Amino acid sequence: MTTELFNEVLSETEVAVRDTLRRFAEEVMRPIGKALDQLTPDEVIAKNSLLWEAHSKYNELGIGMFTQDDSLGPVEGARLTALASEMLGWGDTGLAISLSVSGMPINLAQISGDPKLIEHYCRGKVGCWAITEPNHGSDIVDFGAVGSEGNSPRRGDCVARRDGDHIVINGQKSSWVSNGTIAQMAALYCAYEDEHGMLGGGVFLVPLDTNGVSRGKPTNKIGQRPLNQGEIFFDSVTIPLNHMIGGHEQYTPMLEATLTSANGGMGSLFCGLARAALEHAVDYAKERVQGDKPIFQHQAVKSRLFEMFRKVEAARSLNLKVVTHNAVNPKLELAIASKVTSTRTAMEVATEALSIYGGAGITRENPIEKLMRDASVSVIEDGENTLLGLVAADRL
Ligand SMILES: Cc1cc2nc3c(=O)[nH]c(=O)nc-3n(C[C@H](O)[C@H](O)[C@H](O)COP(=O)(O)OP(=O)(O)OC[C@H]3O[C@@H](n4cnc5c(N)ncnc54)[C@H](O)[C@@H]3O)c2cc1C
Repeated sequence: MTTELFNEVLSETEVAVRDTLRRFAEEVMRPIGKALDQLTPDEVIAKNSLLWEAHSKYNELGIGMFTQDDSLGPVEGARLTALASEMLGWGDTGLAISLSVSGMPINLAQISGDPKLIEHYCRGKVGCWAITEPNHGSDIVDFGAVGSEGNSPRRGDCVARRDGDHIVINGQKSSWVSNGTIAQMAALYCAYEDEHGMLGGGVFLVPLDTNGVSRGKPTNKIGQRPLNQGEIFFDSVTIPLNHMIGGHEQYTPMLEATLTSANGGMGSLFCGLARAALEHAVDYAKERVQGDKPIFQHQAVKSRLFEMFRKVEAARSLNLKVVTHNAVNPKLELAIASKVTSTRTAMEVATEALSIYGGAGITRENPIEKLMRDASVSVIEDGENTLLGLVAADRL
């Protein structure tokens, strides 16, 4: 890694966080991500897998959620989160998503303020966000139904029903749930009904060792292979009523807040991937000699590297602007603009980097083909980019 990209003037804390995360990304995430990428989905989550080393070393860092640290202002917290996320994405995006989505249940528990939910059920547990369903992918992100004609609550593949002092859950979540087959605790977003019938959506914390929970097989996919994904099935799973964090009235605002935060975070992570691809391409171009000189010295290569650099810096600037704005005045359309920009940039820059590597780019010895596969997945996760664009446009 040779390229030090533009950074605004950073505070001492920001420099310390960035440097700590850079070391973690370089020394832990990159080697572990590379090793897990070559394994089968079952091997990735085996007891002796390096995945667990990545999780435990990340927990040892004690980075936590800067946005919930009362000693920091909201903008300061958002900047630190963006810097940290960019470095995690620079390390390995599949692992970064496994590590960060793991904190979703405890973040929800903190909204409840219930110490038992926070400490007993969520602290130190591997978490997941279970929202997508086999028959409701984009439908769930498109909660205002901008891409279809109706706007009525849809009956989901997974339904929670109130039964006295309990909630009973039946149905399933899709094979896309990140950490789905390994999580101990789920932040479950699903349809909710009571004795009067379907009310809309609800948000629940579900310990995944509860009777009636079962899992599918880990999903086998082209990119972000260190990220475990898989179905969760619920067969009359019964949880206490206080595990409901939001009922139908809170569902839409909670979903909007979650998507706003998730899309801003994806914007940071994939700036990291785009930046990694650019740095590898610059390094390689300075080493590889053709026409008697390093290819870096051929004007056409230089101008392609400049285009990559320009896109990376534009995506980073937008992301920092969006996440700091959203820390005080959250707007989903801004978060979507950043997610779409960063993931497109990641895909474009990784693809161009592969081409700059020439034949060496497509081999597994070099890091570029993996970055390209990882980036290709990003244009779908947390909402496919075109659909996200429709959701954002509706707010203009
Ligand atoms: C790596 C990864 C991680 C993920 N992590 C999670 C997770 O942690 N938890 C979770 O619950 N889910 C997760 N997902 C699921 C993800 O959010 C969905 O895959 C995504 O929302 C798209 O849904 P789908 O795959 O069912 O595609 P579909 O909804 O079937 O869409 C297929 C195509 O049709 C288009 N389309 C669909 N509906 C419309 C419409 N109304 N108007 C216009 N175009 C439309 C879409 O834009 C897309 O191009 C993850 C997915 C990936 C790839």
